[in-house]
Amino acid sequence: MALSGWASDYVNLVLAVGRHDAHFVDAYYGPAAWKEAAEAGAPRPLPELRAEARRLLEGLSVAEAPEGEGLRRDYLLGQLGAVEAHVARLQGHRFSFDDEAEALYQVRPPRLPEATFEAALARLDRILEGPGSVQERYQKARERVLVPAARIDAVFQAAIAEARERTRRHAALPASDHFRVEYVTGKSWSAYNWYQGGGNSVIQVNLDLPIAMDRALDLAAHEGYPGHHVYNAMLEQRFAQAPPGGRGWVEFTVYPLFSPQSLIAEGTANFGIEVAFPGAERLAFERDVLFPLAGLDPVEAERWARVQAEMKVLAFADNEAAGGLLDGHLSRDEAAAFLVRYSLRTEAQAAQRLRFIDTYRSYVINYNLGEQLVRQWVEGQGGTVADPGRRWAAFVDLISSPRLPRALGL
Ligand SMILES: [Zn+2]
Repeated sequence: MALSGWASDYVNLVLAVGRHDAHFVDAYYGPAAWKEAAEAGAPRPLPELRAEARRLLEGLSVAEAPEGEGLRRDYLLGQLGAVEAHVARLQGHRFSFDDEAEALYQVRPPRLPEATFEAALARLDRILEGPGSVQERYQKARERVLVPAARIDAVFQAAIAEARERTRRHAALPASDHFRVEYVTGKSWSAYNWYQGGGNSVIQVNLDLPIAMDRALDLAAHEGYPGHHVYNAMLEQRFAQAPPGGRGWVEFTVYPLFSPQSLIAEGTANFGIEVAFPGAERLAFERDVLFPLAGLDPVEAERWARVQAEMKVLAFADNEAAGGLLDGHLSRDEAAAFLVRYSLRTEAQAAQRLRFIDTYRSYVINYNLGEQLVRQWVEGQGGTVADPGRRWAAFVDLISSPRLPRALGL
């Protein structure tokens, strides 16, 4: 059987698993008849779906990959391995945090000692002067850069327009490229990109909690340009579309969330912020455009940027809190306290993050470890800070390839 046969079976399997877990199928724009078939009648039983995953894995592992399709076969094998593990989870199998991360995302997250976080806190202690604990001073500084509700849309639209313009210079976006921003409440995430196919996304921004200035560019670049929206559009354009534009690889019309592709998706979405807005350029744009647009004092921009650099280290605290909670080493209260102490969240933000961990579990590693691995790979291709052109080229190469974490060769 040619790879396309295995690919069709994979797509139908993912759709069938989606009947058991509403979070699983993040995007689908393949044949409508397949989705209708998957949704007709009773869901296929989990043991049957697991056996189907195994059948596909075994068949594909001995299937010949035609010239130029080696990465495609590795992609299908990696994705199928995660589908099988996810079905096992749905059947009640409990993985340890690290085993789950490896089964779903092809990486074992490094354990960071608290000393690493303490060192970042000590540096923040020097940046944020004034009385009170470093957590209190961080929150005070953050309050000074909160975007007033009435300005949020104007600030996002400006951030998106700039991120798009910068991305367009380096990546061939489809002619139909478009996305819509919606404001929602009552979610466990702060923003979400829903790819619709045809170069279209709906990006939802959660207004449950106040939004600080740094999130404007983060969300515009992470969810939009050159992040999730562009990654999905590139894969669609290059692979999913029929020849001669694309290659007619149907597996790229579906995106199962709990799969190795998510490490690449979140890692590139996070690293893409820096690719589009390297250090000083980001500060200049925020200080000169976004802060005034939000009615905030531009003087705050520089210090806030230094604070954010330390937050990159503290982002890994999520893994420790999630791992501790899910493996039973931390109670819920202890995990919340860990997030307040080391990721400097408010209690409300920590509670929101715990709800996210309840649903998405080891997915949290995709943001921080994903960003680190993507950075290493891009730098390994010569895409260092010193060479922005190569950095963009390597980045665009990654978001328009079937590479999964294992294929990064790190
Ligand atoms: Zn994301």
